[in-house]
Amino acid sequence: MGRVAERLAGLHRRLLFADDPDPVLVQAVFAVLFLADILLRAAGGSPLALGSWPMAGLVLVALATAAALVVPWQRAAPWTIGILPVVDILALGLSRMDPGGGATGTLAVVPALWLGRQYGPRGAVVVFLATALLLVTPGLAYLGVSGANLTRTVLIPLVATWAALAISYALERVRAGTEVIEHQRRVSQAIFDAVDVGLVLLDHTGAYQGVNRRQTDFIGLAFPDGHSGRAGQLGAVYDAEGTRELTREELPTYRASRGEEFTDVRIWVGRDPLTRRALSVSAHRVEDDAGNLAGAALGYKDVTDYMRALRVKDEFVASVSHELRTPLTSIVGYAQLLLERDDLPPDVVAQLEVMARNSGRLHRLVADLLHSARLDEGATAVARAPVDLAAVVRDGVEAAGPAARRAGVDLAAEAPPTLVLMADRERLEQVVDNLLSNAVKYTHAGGCVRVSLAVDADRAELCVADTGIGIAAADRDRLFTRFFRTREAEERSIQGVGLGLSITKAIVESHGGRIEVESELGTGSAFRVRLPLG
Ligand code: ADP
Repeated sequence: MGRVAERLAGLHRRLLFADDPDPVLVQAVFAVLFLADILLRAAGGSPLALGSWPMAGLVLVALATAAALVVPWQRAAPWTIGILPVVDILALGLSRMDPGGGATGTLAVVPALWLGRQYGPRGAVVVFLATALLLVTPGLAYLGVSGANLTRTVLIPLVATWAALAISYALERVRAGTEVIEHQRRVSQAIFDAVDVGLVLLDHTGAYQGVNRRQTDFIGLAFPDGHSGRAGQLGAVYDAEGTRELTREELPTYRASRGEEFTDVRIWVGRDPLTRRALSVSAHRVEDDAGNLAGAALGYKDVTDYMRALRVKDEFVASVSHELRTPLTSIVGYAQLLLERDDLPPDVVAQLEVMARNSGRLHRLVADLLHSARLDEGATAVARAPVDLAAVVRDGVEAAGPAARRAGVDLAAEAPPTLVLMADRERLEQVVDNLLSNAVKYTHAGGCVRVSLAVDADRAELCVADTGIGIAAADRDRLFTRFFRTREAEERSIQGVGLGLSITKAIVESHGGRIEVESELGTGSAFRVRLPLG
C-alpha cells in the first residue's frame, strides 16, 4: 500500500513539478482521458461511426501518442515538443464535431497546462490561438451558433489560457524561490569553507551531514585510508599527549553523536610526527522542537603551534632551572656558612642575611619551576613510607614562625601527638610549607593563621586557615593552575609566581587525596587537604 502511494506521489511529481515535463507521460494521460470521453459518449448512446470526426480525433491522438514514444525529443529542438499538445487540441476540436453533443472541453486543460509549463507565457499565447482556431472555430462551424453551445465553446480558450498562465506564473515563482535558496546555500557553503576552523555537522544517527574544506584536511590526516562518513571511526587520532590512540568511546565525534557537549578537548591527528596536527575540539547539541537530539555541530581548531610552543617553553624552563640549581645551592650553602662565623662586623652580617634570604628564595623558586616541569612530564613519583604528618606540621609551623613574626601574623597549630600515614615525607613537607607560607604571605599584620590536623574516618584532614586578603569566587577555579595569581596578590605586590598551589595539588592528588578551598574576599581563606591514611 505504501509503495503504491509512493509511486503515485512520484508520478504526480513527474507530471506536475519536474523541470521538463515527460512528453510520454503527459501525452499518455491525455490519451487515456480522451479515450474515456469517447467510450463514455458511446456508452451514453451517442453512435460514433468509424468515419466520423471524433474517430479522426482519436486517430490523431493515437498518432501523437506514438510520436511521443518514438521521437527522441531530447535531441530535437525545444519548440518541436509543443506540436504534441497543439495536435491534442486539434483532436479535441474534431471530437467536438459530433451531432450527439461534442467532447468535453475541459480536456483542453491538459494540453494547456503542458504548454504553459513548458513555454511559460508564450505557451499561454499558443494555447489561446490553438483553442480559438482549432477547437472553437470548427465546433461553432459544425454545431452552429446556439446560446448554450456558444458559451460552452467560447469559454474554453479563456479557461485553458488562464490555466496555462496560472501554471507558468506558479512555476516562475517556484523557480525564483529555488534560485534564492540555491544562492543562500552557496553563500553558506562559501562561509562554511572559508572559516579557519574545521567543522562537522552530524545527524541524530551520527552520520556526517556536512564537512568543510578545513576539516577535510584533518580527516585526510586522521583517516588516510578513507572515512566512512559516520561518527566513531577509529583512526590515527591520539590523546592530548599524542601518544595513545583514542578508543571509540573517547572520539569527539562519537561523544557528540551521543549528545555530549564539550569544549577544548585536545587531540592529535596523523601518524607522521612531522605533519600531525594538534586540535582543540568543541561540540554542541542540535535539538528538535521537542528537545530531542537532532544532531551535533563540532568545531576543530588547529592548536599545533600553541602546543609546540608550550612544550618548548616547558623544556626551556626545565633546562634553565636545572642549570641554575647547582650554582644556587652553592651560593645558599656558603652564605649560611658565612653567617655561622662570629668574627664578622654587624653590617656585613646584615648584608649577608639579605643575601642568604634572597638566594634562599631564588633557590625555592628554581626548585618549584623544576618540579612543575617534571609534573608536566608526568613524573610525580611518590616514595611511600610511614610518615608522621603531625610531626611534619609541627616542623612546618616552626619553620614558618620567623616569617610570621616578621609579618606580625599570629601563627598557631592544633595537632594530635602523632598521625601516621603512608606517604612521601618530602612531598608532604612541601604541601605544608606551601600552604603555610601562602597563609602568612597573604595575611595583613595583626591577622592570624590557624593550622589544624585531625583524623576523619580513614583520612587525615589538614586545614590551614587565615584571616588574610581572601580569594574572589571567580578566581577559585583557576587557583590551582600554573602561574595564576589573583588580582589582589598582584595589586599588593606580594611576591610569588603562582606555582606553589599547582604543585601542592599535584602532590595531594598523587597521594590519592583532595584539596579544597573556602574563601571570602577580604575576610580570609581556608585550604583543606584530605589524605587517605593507607
Ligand atoms: P604564589 O603564592 O607564588 O603566587 P601560589 O600557587 O601558591 O603562588 O598561589 C597562587 C595564587 O593564589 C596567589 O598568587 C594568590 O593570589 C592566591 N592565594 C594563595 N593562597 C592564598 C591565601 N591564603 N589567601 C589569599 N590568596 C591566596
